[in-house]
Order: sequence, then C-alpha cells, then structure tokens
Amino acid sequence: MRYSYEAISVFPEVFDAYFGSSILGKAQDRGIFSFTAHNLRDWTHDRHKTVDDAPFGGGAGMLMKPAPIFEAFDAISAASNEKPYVVFFTPTGTPFTQQVAERLSKKPRIVFMCGRYEGIDQRAYSLADEELSLGDYVLTGGELACMVVVDAIVRLLPGALGDEMSAQDESFSAGLLEYEQYTRPSSYRGMNVPEVLLSGNHGKIASWRRANALERTVLRRPDLLEQATLSKEEELFVQQLLNTRIKENDES
Ligand code: SAM
Repeated sequence: MRYSYEAISVFPEVFDAYFGSSILGKAQDRGIFSFTAHNLRDWTHDRHKTVDDAPFGGGAGMLMKPAPIFEAFDAISAASNEKPYVVFFTPTGTPFTQQVAERLSKKPRIVFMCGRYEGIDQRAYSLADEELSLGDYVLTGGELACMVVVDAIVRLLPGALGDEMSAQDESFSAGLLEYEQYTRPSSYRGMNVPEVLLSGNHGKIASWRRANALERTVLRRPDLLEQATLSKEEELFVQQLLNTRIKENDES
C-alpha cells in the first residue's frame, strides 16, 4: 500500500531537502509513501497571488484568507478517489504525540494545512478532521510541524525503516523511554559500557534494557508510566524507584 501525504503551504519549497534525504528519501524511492507540497498561491485569482488579509476587529499582523484554502481543498480532494484525512496545524490544537503518530500512520491519505502569518481564518478550520499542535510554543509556520509529523508517521509505515531497523523498541512505543545505547569502543575516556551488554547473553541484555528503560522513565518522564503496560514485578520495581526518588527529593 502506498501512503500519500500532501501539504498546502505558501512556502512549498522548504520541504524538498528534508523529504529528499535519508530514510524519508529512500522510503519514497521504494514507493512506500509519496509527499507532495502544493502552493496555496495556485488557488488565488489576483495578480499578486494574495493569500492573506487584515483581521476583522483589528490587531497585529495578517490572516490567511479562507477562499484559497477552500479552493485548494476542493481541487486536491477531487484529484483522487481516496478521501483525504485533513490535519490543520495550530498552537491551539491537540498536542502531537507518538500515539497520534501511530493513529495517523493507519490513514492512507492525509492532507496537512500549514498556516503562516498570524494564523488562519476560523472558517477554514471547518475543513479539518483534526487540529494538531507540536507543543506549547509558537512557530513561524506550520511547515516545520508538518515535517515533524510526517517524519514520525513514516517511521511507523511497514518497510519504511528497512529490515535492519525497527520502531518497536523506540521511546514512547510501549509507554516508556528507550533504554541507554552504546557502540564501540567499550571504554572511552574512562567511561565503560555496562558489562552485561558485552556478555552476549541475550536474556540478560533484554532484562537490563527493560530495567534501564523503566529507570529512565521514572527519572525523566514519570508522567508516561500511567500509559505503560507493566508486569506485577515491574510495578513493584517502579514503586521502589519512585519511593527512592521521593526520599532523595525530601533530603535535598
Ligand atoms: N497567532 C497564532 C496563535 O497565537 O495561536 C499563531 C500563528 S503562527 C505565527 C503561524 C502558523 O504556524 C500557525 O497557523 C500554525 O500553522 C503554525 N504553528 C505555529 N506554532 C505551532 C505549533 N506549536 N504547532 C503547530 N503549528 C504551529
């Protein structure tokens, strides 16, 4: 199955370098997904290809006009029998997470609307199936958000990472942060790789990794633990780590 992603943007050229390189470039070459950036100005009708206008009620900056956006969606939707799932980027949207990436990775066709200026006329949001925010900060435009979201989705598509890599163990995939990783040399500037990773004992390595992932999650992102699926033994281990952490905090 070939997944299709499209962006509507006033700066479509900004996507080229990112989507042309590395894993994303190769996955497109292998036909796993396609990415097309449409220029919103193609759906304007004046000499200056105007996509923005001043906000009613006054205020700083300009807003994206509804008409080019509606016309762009009409044309893009009609170009394929597959009805697109529509995502608008806005700081007021739902925070983007790995769970959202997993959900979106099941959609065969997604069109992303990238805002610019002070944002988008509210009426255009009636086209959206979903509004997404990258985080609690304000970017200049939705293009970066689109690259982030498509990148995170593509990693989850079957075959996109190649046989040798897997997204299964990565941070957030099981509700935990990923364990620490090391490569050669085994000793560098007095810092040694944990012995167990050099042992060749796959059972012990897997247990160490799981414990390390649990420890890191407790220390760095305890909020994630609510979503994690843990065995009874692991719950006990986590509780002990949390208690130690509380004790250390009280002492400092
Ligand atoms: N005035 C808007 C506000 O305060 O919510 C911000 C507009 S921002 C300068 C222009 C565009 O960048 C937005 O329409 C959106 O597409 C994109 N953008 C900015 N920050 C974003 C974020 N945190 N997540 C997703 N998109 C964002």
